[in-house]
Amino acid sequence: MMEPYDVFVAGGGMSGSAVARFAAQGGLKALFIEKCKTPRTKPCSGIQFPYFEKILGVKIPPDRLCTKQITKTKMYYHDGTSFGAPFKAFNYMRKTFDNWLNVLAQEAGAEFRDECEFVDFEETPDDVVVTIQSKGKEPEKIKARYAVDATGLSALPLRRKLRPQDFGEKASGGGINYYVDGEADIDPETLYQFWDLKFSDAMFAWIYTKTLDDGKDYWCIGTGCVGGDIRERQELFYDFVKKKFNVQGNIVETEEFLTAIDMKSSERVWLGQGRILMVGDAAGLLDGVRGVGQDAAALSGRFAATAILESDRKGTTVLEEYAKLARTITTQTKKNQEREIDQFETNEELKRYLKSSLFTTGIKMIYQSFLNKFRPIEKLRLLPP
Ligand SMILES: Cc1cc2nc3c(=O)[nH]c(=O)nc-3n(C[C@H](O)[C@H](O)[C@H](O)COP(=O)(O)OP(=O)(O)OC[C@H]3O[C@@H](n4cnc5c(N)ncnc54)[C@H](O)[C@@H]3O)c2cc1C
Repeated sequence: MMEPYDVFVAGGGMSGSAVARFAAQGGLKALFIEKCKTPRTKPCSGIQFPYFEKILGVKIPPDRLCTKQITKTKMYYHDGTSFGAPFKAFNYMRKTFDNWLNVLAQEAGAEFRDECEFVDFEETPDDVVVTIQSKGKEPEKIKARYAVDATGLSALPLRRKLRPQDFGEKASGGGINYYVDGEADIDPETLYQFWDLKFSDAMFAWIYTKTLDDGKDYWCIGTGCVGGDIRERQELFYDFVKKKFNVQGNIVETEEFLTAIDMKSSERVWLGQGRILMVGDAAGLLDGVRGVGQDAAALSGRFAATAILESDRKGTTVLEEYAKLARTITTQTKKNQEREIDQFETNEELKRYLKSSLFTTGIKMIYQSFLNKFRPIEKLRLLPP
């Protein structure tokens, strides 16, 4: 067996790259692996708030963004009434974006292997022995002081072994995106939100504009849910959008995503145990109420790396340090879990709730965005608040 790593990370997405980069920047020997060949696609709308650069600790280069950025949002209720507001957000494809984060982590000194899968692990008192397997090769064992599950919501192999009770028999939700070409009466800089329980019981169904590998822009039309059949919901939504916005084109690409973990479980947010840490979606930090998860994924990855460095420095346990750093985001995510929209039986109730909270949410959004500029990252209030 080779010389041990300080940290092994399964998953080369948003959270895994953050752990690897910040660990390597702190002088730790880090290995992160990704089961897919990179750059890889990731079903995601790829929208984030302006504070995302503060979380990443680096400016996003324009060539990693889509040609159109989001400047406005428009909310539609089930009865066709709507509300529009200015809204600034980054817009990117996860394939291009995550590849950039992979490169940054390697430039910081982390070792990276793609087409390499996490298989199993065993904990010993001083380290973790991890089995990984590169495509076409025999399984290999490596040792690390800490192992991090950054495999997102559909895999979570470390968490699955430690907490099988968090997994239902079948997927408890998911998301689908269609990328559609052709003319349509859609504004390419607007994020459209459709609040209708037929289309989504988790949040809103959406339309944005995305730049695909061929450099051309497409309409991204999708939805997500925690219950019901995601494909049926998406078909219903797509038919609705085609008529409403006079969409003339065809679907050129489909992305689909199913969650393995029980999203409704009160134990969903879980940071790990002993030498095993969870980050990002694997830690249950995807937030259906906020409708996003990349900010929490990158932040938790950064915190996990910082926690290892802090525990080495102070002689405390890593989980103690990690829980402290992540307290604001775990508290907010757990609280939001109680506010998920599947509590509403009818669209009228949902509309009443949304309308009554619109003004305060808008004010809080402006206020918290302003305060976030001055807060240390562990005190950031995730948006929308
Ligand atoms: C349809 C949809 C739309 C979304 N839109 C937004 C949005 O607009 N804004 C936002 O902020 N969030 C959005 N999210 C949420 C966001 O995508 C996630 O919160 C975020 O990607 C979580 O990052 P992660 O690093 O935890 O997991 P991921 O980004 O999923 O990365 C996990 C990685 O682990 C790899 N992996 C899996 N198993 C193994 C294994 N055994 N060995 C090695 N590697 C493995 C996977 O291939 C993957 O690359 C959306 C999610 C969905 C499903």
